[in-house]
Amino acid sequence: MGSAAARHLALRGKSVALIGPGEPRSKATDQGVFASHYDQARITRRLDSDQVWSLLSCQSISRYADIENRAGRDFFHDVGSVMAGPRSGQGSDFVAKARRVGAKLGIEHDVLEGAQLAERFPFFRFPPGTQALHEAKGAGHINPRLHVAAEIACAQTDHCIVVPYEVTHIAESSMGITVHCSNQKRYSAEKVVVACGAYSGRSGLLPDPLPMKVFARTIAFFELGEAEAARLRNMPSLVYVPPDLSCDPYVLPPVMYPDGKVYLKIGGDPEDVELSGDREIGDWFRSHGDANVGAFLAEQLLKIMPDLDFEQITYGSCVTSYTKSGKPLIYGQTDRIFALTGGNGAGAKCADELGRIAAILMTEGKVPKGLYEASFGP
Ligand SMILES: Cc1cc2nc3c(=O)[nH]c(=O)nc-3n(C[C@H](O)[C@H](O)[C@H](O)COP(=O)(O)OP(=O)(O)OC[C@H]3O[C@@H](n4cnc5c(N)ncnc54)[C@H](O)[C@@H]3O)c2cc1C
Repeated sequence: MGSAAARHLALRGKSVALIGPGEPRSKATDQGVFASHYDQARITRRLDSDQVWSLLSCQSISRYADIENRAGRDFFHDVGSVMAGPRSGQGSDFVAKARRVGAKLGIEHDVLEGAQLAERFPFFRFPPGTQALHEAKGAGHINPRLHVAAEIACAQTDHCIVVPYEVTHIAESSMGITVHCSNQKRYSAEKVVVACGAYSGRSGLLPDPLPMKVFARTIAFFELGEAEAARLRNMPSLVYVPPDLSCDPYVLPPVMYPDGKVYLKIGGDPEDVELSGDREIGDWFRSHGDANVGAFLAEQLLKIMPDLDFEQITYGSCVTSYTKSGKPLIYGQTDRIFALTGGNGAGAKCADELGRIAAILMTEGKVPKGLYEASFGP
C-alpha cells in the first residue's frame, strides 16, 4: 500500500520519499520489522461478497498491465480464480452475495455445479450442493514481492527516493513533519502517510490509536514434483466455504518459490489469535506458524484435492490486520498525518487502488465521491 501511495503521489508531481526497509535476509533471526507481502503468491479476483472490496480490486486489476509495462516487470498470473461454497442453506451467502455483486458490476464469470464443475476442475473434489463462480480472465494470483518492486520502480521513474530504514518516530509541528529513522537521519515533509502494515499502530508513528487488530496466520505449503505441477498447470486460485463452515480456506495453484521448488499453498486459520506489540508480531514472523493449525489446513486441502501427489508439507507464518469496519483505513489523523492500512486479509490484490485513494486524500483533501459508498475512516 505504501509503495502504491508513493507511485500515485509521484505521478501527481509530488516530491516523495518512500521510507522503509527491504525484506530481511534471515526471517528466523532478523530483529527489525516484517511485512505481510513476503510471499510469492496472493489471490487476485474481482468478484467478492462485498461490493467495496470488489470495486477496489476491479480498479487495481485494470492497472496491472500498465504498471507491469512501465516497470518492465511482470507480477500478475492470469490463471483464473474460483469462489466456491454451498448453493443453499448455511454458508450460501458467500457465493450468493458474490453473484449479486458480479451482476451489479458486470464482472464476467461462469457459474458451475455438479458434473460440469467436476469436469472443468477434475483436481478439485467438492461436496454435492457446491456452487462455484469461475472468473476465467483478469483473475488468478499476483507475486506480491514483484508487485511492490514494480510499484517502487514506477515511483522512482517519477523521482521518488527510497530510504531503506525503519521509521522510529514521527513528529508534527506548525512547520510540518519530521520523520526520524533508524539510521539516525531525519526527513522533513509537508505530509506523511503511515502504511506500515501490522506495525502501523506502533507507538510514535500515528498520533491516535488505530481501530485494528493483528492476527497470527499459519500457511501450509505442499511441495510438488515436476509431474504433479504439470498436471495442475491449469489450476485456478480458490477461495472456498465448506458446508460445515469449519473454516474458509484459500488455495494457491503451484508456484515456484525462491528456493527453486514448486509449492501449492493453503491458508485460512480456523481461529483468530491476536498479536499485540512489535515483540509478539516479530516473534510470530520469525516462527514457522502453529503446527496444529498447519496440520488442520493440510487436512482441509486433502479433502478438496484428495488425489494430490506431494513430496512434503511445511508450514509458514504471516499476519493479517483486521479493522473494526472490515474495510481498509485511509484517513487523516491530523491535517498532515495519514493512515493507510488494514488489508483485512485481502489487501494485496487491491493495494494499487488503496494507494491511489490515499494519494488523492493527501493532495485533494477528500476521497473521490461516487465510486465508493463506504468511507475509509476509523
Ligand atoms: C497468509 C496471508 C495470505 C494472504 N492472502 C491474500 C490474498 O490471497 N490476496 C490478497 O489480496 N491479500 C492477501 N493477504 C493480505 C495481504 O498480504 C495484506 O493485506 C497486504 O500485504 C497488506 O499490505 P500493507 O502494505 O498494508 O502491509 P505490508 O505488506 O505488511 O507492508 C508493510 C510495509 O511497512 C514496512 N514497515 C513496517 N514498519 C515500519 C517502520 N516502522 N518504518 C518503515 N517501514 C515500516 C514494512 O517493512 C513493509 O514494507 C494475505 C495475507 C497473509 C498474511
